[in-house]
Amino acid sequence: MTTHKVAVVTGASSGIGEATARALAAAGYTVYLGARRLDRLRAIAADIGGHALALDVADAASVQSFATALPAHVHVLVNNAGGALGLAPVAEFDEAQWLAMFQSNVLGLARMTRALHGRLLASGDGHVVNIGSIAGFETYSGGAGYTAAKHAVRAISETLRLEWLGQPMRVTEIDPGLVETEFSLVRFAGDAERASKVYAATRPLTAGDIADAVVWATTRPAHVNVDQIVIRPTDQARADKVFRRG
Ligand code: NAP
Repeated sequence: MTTHKVAVVTGASSGIGEATARALAAAGYTVYLGARRLDRLRAIAADIGGHALALDVADAASVQSFATALPAHVHVLVNNAGGALGLAPVAEFDEAQWLAMFQSNVLGLARMTRALHGRLLASGDGHVVNIGSIAGFETYSGGAGYTAAKHAVRAISETLRLEWLGQPMRVTEIDPGLVETEFSLVRFAGDAERASKVYAATRPLTAGDIADAVVWATTRPAHVNVDQIVIRPTDQARADKVFRRG
C-alpha cells in the first residue's frame, strides 16, 4: 500500500521516535532516522531496513546536512525530537535548561519543517506530524519551561495549517499524556530512581501506543487531515492527576 513512500523521524534513537520508525517501516515506508546517538540509531535502522543519519535539531548546520542526505521526495516528517529538562519553579528557572528545551522542542521542529518543506511538497502529499503533548494545553507546577515549549508547538501546528492552505500538505499534532520512555530519565539528568517514581503503581502508555496513532493519521487518504489526537493512559485525568494503586 504505502511502498516507496519516504518517512523521516527525528529523535528516533529511543522511545516514541524509535517505536514510530519501526511502525512506519512495518507499514511499508522507507524510513530515515535522525538523532544524536548514532550507534543506537544505526542498530534500529539496520533492524528495520531504514537509514540512520546523525541529527541534532538544535543545530541549524546539522539540520541542513541531514536534509541534503534525503531523497527529493519526502512524504512524512515526524517532528518527535524533544523532551523536558528539570522541574524547577519559574522563580528559580535554569536558563540553560529552558534554552535547550526551546531549541529541541520548538526551534528544532521549525528548522526541520523549513528544511524539508520543498521535499514534502514535491511528494504531492506531504504530511508533517508534530509530537506535542498534553503539556501543550495543560500546565503543572515546575513544568513551565516544558509546557511553554509544547504550547508553542501547538501554535506552530495551527499556523502551518493556515499557511499551507491550498498546498498538498497535511499537519497533524499528536498530544500524548504519560508514556513510559527515557523521557523522565532525561528530565532528571539520569536519576533512575526519581524517574521510575513517575511511572510507579500506575499504567502509563507505551511508545507503541503513540506510534499506532502516527501510522493511523499518516495512512488516511490525502484529502483527510487529522488535526489533533490527544491520547492519555486510562490512569491519567490531567497532566498532574494520575491514579496510583496502593
Ligand atoms: P525519549 O525516550 O527521551 O526520546 C527522546 C528522543 O529525542 C531521543 O531519541 C533523543 O535522541 C531525541 N532528541 C532529543 N534532543 C534532540 C536533539 N537536539 N536532536 C535530535 N534528537 C534529539 O523520550 P520520548 O518520550 O520518546 O519523547 C519523544 C517526544 O515525545 C518528545 O518530543 C516529548 O516531549 C514527547 N512527549 C513525551 C511524553 C512522555 O510521557 N514520554 C508525553 C508527551 C510528549 P538523542 O538523545 O539520541 O539525540
